[in-house]
Amino acid sequence: MKAVAVFPGPQEVRLIEQEFPRLTQPDQVMLRMLDIGICGTDKEICSFEYGTPPPGDDYLVIGHESLAEVVEVGTAVERLRPGDLVVPSVRRPCPHPGCLACRSGHQDYCYTGDFSERGIKDAHGYLAEYVVDHEQYMNTVPLHLRDIAVLAEPLTIAEKALAQIFWMMQQRPPWTDPETPSEERGRGLSALVLGIGPVGLLGAMVLVTAGFTTYVYSREQPPSPRIDLVEAIGATYVSSQTATFGQLRRQIGNIDLVYEAVGHSHFALQALHILGTNGIFVLTGVPGLQAFVEADPAHLMREMVLNNQVLLGTVNAGPDAFTSALRDLGRFRRQWPAVVSTLIADRYPPEQAPELILGRPAGIKSVIAF
Ligand code: BGC
Repeated sequence: MKAVAVFPGPQEVRLIEQEFPRLTQPDQVMLRMLDIGICGTDKEICSFEYGTPPPGDDYLVIGHESLAEVVEVGTAVERLRPGDLVVPSVRRPCPHPGCLACRSGHQDYCYTGDFSERGIKDAHGYLAEYVVDHEQYMNTVPLHLRDIAVLAEPLTIAEKALAQIFWMMQQRPPWTDPETPSEERGRGLSALVLGIGPVGLLGAMVLVTAGFTTYVYSREQPPSPRIDLVEAIGATYVSSQTATFGQLRRQIGNIDLVYEAVGHSHFALQALHILGTNGIFVLTGVPGLQAFVEADPAHLMREMVLNNQVLLGTVNAGPDAFTSALRDLGRFRRQWPAVVSTLIADRYPPEQAPELILGRPAGIKSVIAF
């Protein structure tokens, strides 16, 4: 069967032939992979800046944003049946008995760093025709989300971030409003999304549905389908080519939340300076190798302390975030059917994966389909 793999030694990315996998444990399921999304992390892995093959292998099968059909189940599988659609989570727990996070099923908060991530770190991924995995890591997808469920994994980044933000920020007096319904917790607050890639756009959709007055700031200039999308969901787009960070701050007023989705350290640092009083800054991008920049940490520290600010890094996601993501994909489609139909640029055969990953992204999200 076909798979797409990266070989760090000779620095190659190519289609490979593999043996069909087999179930070897009773709690396993056989997955027929339907859709695999391509993202910036795949690009970094295929540029040999990130990612590691499983121990003992000289290659890594990539792919971590996925949608699959269950085609076979082990004897101990209880929840799933052949024909079910699932989105697998990405991270698997570390083996250490003392890791409180992994031992309680919260490997997205692993303390030791010895977790594995399918398609990224120490474990093969989902860009293969068939994959065997454990039932416990599968998130069931309603059949009506078949065409867009591959977006669930990138959406979990925003879902996990928002869950933490509300948990933290709603304990702080200015954010607390007992009258606000839980699904509109951002009402009266402004959010700034940095970046107009899939993570930024999906993040903006979550923020708009949560009631935030939402702005998106990036380099892109019109005409652009991504900018059209921002406007179609009721957010405001500002280009960094036409407005500086200072102008942006004057336009927005107090910026209660910054949701960083670019992975560009200098851009993020500049944005930290315009975070508002009592604001929270969420970092989701994992920067690759970047130029050294000078900073003024004393000024930053002073601003952060004097303004009660929070800086939060967040990575990966647990089962609750997958549940919220799948719920919200349904909501997005009800609210913005035309927008949602443009999210997936196109579906391409696996032979085209290397050029798609390494080339300039076309449309919003490129998907490989077997
Ligand atoms: C993936 C996460 C992963 C992170 C760091 C992201 O692209 O969506 O699941 O934890 O990269 O490896």
